[in-house]
Amino acid sequence: MTATVIDGKAFAANVREQIGAHVAKIKGENGITPGLAVILVGEDPASEVYVRNKGKQTIEVGMNSYEHKLPADVSEDELYALIDKLNNDKNVHGILCQFPVPDHLSEQAIVARIDPAKDVDGLHVINAGLLASGQRSLVSCTPLGCLMLLRDHLGSLSGKNAVVIGRSNLVGKPVAQLLLGDSCTVTIAHSRTANLEEVVRQADIVVAAVGRPKMVSGDWLKPGATVIDVGINRIEKPEGGTRLVGDVDYESCAAVAGAITPVPGGVGPMTIACLLANTVTACCRANGLAEPVGLTA
Ligand code: NDP
Repeated sequence: MTATVIDGKAFAANVREQIGAHVAKIKGENGITPGLAVILVGEDPASEVYVRNKGKQTIEVGMNSYEHKLPADVSEDELYALIDKLNNDKNVHGILCQFPVPDHLSEQAIVARIDPAKDVDGLHVINAGLLASGQRSLVSCTPLGCLMLLRDHLGSLSGKNAVVIGRSNLVGKPVAQLLLGDSCTVTIAHSRTANLEEVVRQADIVVAAVGRPKMVSGDWLKPGATVIDVGINRIEKPEGGTRLVGDVDYESCAAVAGAITPVPGGVGPMTIACLLANTVTACCRANGLAEPVGLTA
């Protein structure tokens, strides 16, 4: 079997197009422009690239982008004062702080300070709790991207056996909640899971969010399984330099799976697309407008 490649780059472009259309509609009919505020503390080069990409894509879909760069030694009080100001700004519908932040700041406390209705990263405990209890929430972006790709590829997920490898609050747990919400039978595996290969072999859907290069190999899979590879790992190339690989061994898995996401070009591009989707959703909820269809859980 040769797996169908799930093209996350193309799908994300399609999602951005839908967002652009919805933004244009809101602007035209209601005179409201969704706005996303991004806070960057310090000068981490990778974070600067992410923030630049987020800002660029925000503007491309017609939304307002507000970037707030703070020095690495900013005090907690100064950062919280900015978050409070953004929480109260009617032109700002989504707020995110780019992580990691310097050690003297607490990521948990920063997320807790953000108004849950503007928490477009979906990390606030209120949003995590709403998701866990099956209520309307803002869902963290990478898990939402995984769900969209699976729904698009498989249609109904009801009754499928899903194994999520990884139990982080950022990826593994919300992915599992989303799949449960779509009536999958969900197993969450982690570093203490016994007989991981056997567990994975039961799965119609495998989501790997581990952070270990090429850990899942083709002989772990049930033939025809759908594989979503969340991992982003940089490894050395034998000829020098580095390249990105996922948590799944692509070559051996593509020979057994029914469908698979590549790395790069699979889940990765969906993350920013879902951030934009969450910002439009938050804007619509704040203003009592119809939400875009198909861009929420
Ligand atoms: P974390 O390190 O927070 O969590 C990793 C999880 O994997 C943990 O639950 C851990 O188990 C589990 N794990 C580690 N080793 C094993 C093992 N040998 N067998 C089974 N489970 C194991 O990572 P994240 O969830 O934040 O990220 C996971 C991956 O996804 C990373 O590669 C990251 O770069 C990538 N990522 C990609 C994004 C994207 O946009 N595509 C966005 C976010 C993350 P335990 O809890 O027991 O320690």
